[in-house]
Amino acid sequence: MELKGARVLVTGGSRGIGAALASAYADAGALVIVASRSKEDLCQVAGRIGGAIHVADLFDSEVVDGLIGDVEAAHGPIDILVNNAGIETVDPVATVDPDALRVVARVNLEAPMVLTRRVLPGMLERRFGAVVFISSLAGTAGFPGMGPYCATKAGLNNFAASLRLELKGSPISTTLVTPGPVDTRMWDSVESACQSVQRTNNRFQKLGLIPKTTPELLAHRVVAATASGRRHVRHPRRLTPNFWMSESPRRLTELLLTGVRIDPLDRTI
Ligand code: NAP
Repeated sequence: MELKGARVLVTGGSRGIGAALASAYADAGALVIVASRSKEDLCQVAGRIGGAIHVADLFDSEVVDGLIGDVEAAHGPIDILVNNAGIETVDPVATVDPDALRVVARVNLEAPMVLTRRVLPGMLERRFGAVVFISSLAGTAGFPGMGPYCATKAGLNNFAASLRLELKGSPISTTLVTPGPVDTRMWDSVESACQSVQRTNNRFQKLGLIPKTTPELLAHRVVAATASGRRHVRHPRRLTPNFWMSESPRRLTELLLTGVRIDPLDRTI
């Protein structure tokens, strides 16, 4: 798809991967709107890239419900929705703060689903658009100390896979991004988490399986994938067999549905 002049909404655009994505889309000629809770940080990012800001707490269901309408009223139709905002949980299930479970479920899973639901009819009507999901390697398997986070990312992976099937044959693309470690505040928090999480990381690090990438490198790959309509961005590449194994039931379903007509705007009457 043509990125020059496209309107891109990046949730969680105040720092980390979201800020890098905002810069990379802007470098490709897009108008970028960054959304999150921290107005000052958003202003800094938007100032650097000549973009716009929208302050929004994705834990607040009313805010999430109104976000697409508000942004489109202020800036025009959104062509690319980048569901990037996310938070981690880094404690075992028996000790994690129960409130954190609700926050992570809402911000990482409920918000992207609602935002996608809200943005999609307009994209289908205009026959132009892309939805990007920043998921995680943690969505392909369970990891001790990260159960709720893994659950939300696995949910996002299957949501994206279902959506992809619904959009087959339409001009709207989806891209699912499944990174391992990326050098941001979130990874710092994982590295300084409880001993069980650290021991798990040490094991994977010793095996050379989780090299860290930068937000900028990842963002570059995501923007290229949006432009070409590529359905997956995976990091690290050395874990490709793992990604393929977790993807295989989805591919099988896709194969089994060959020739079945799916209407993305179908309704139960
Ligand atoms: P980060 O530096 O902590 O940034 C998280 C972003 O999400 C911030 O912009 C934050 O903005 C926003 N956010 C958090 N809670 C929010 C809320 N309630 N409402 C609105 N925005 C909220 O983390 P990151 O590493 O860049 O993470 C970005 C995405 O990449 C996440 O989905 C994460 O799961 C995924 N990911 C990260 C890694 C990694 O190793 N870093 C690996 C795989 C996947 P405010 O604080 O301003 O609201």
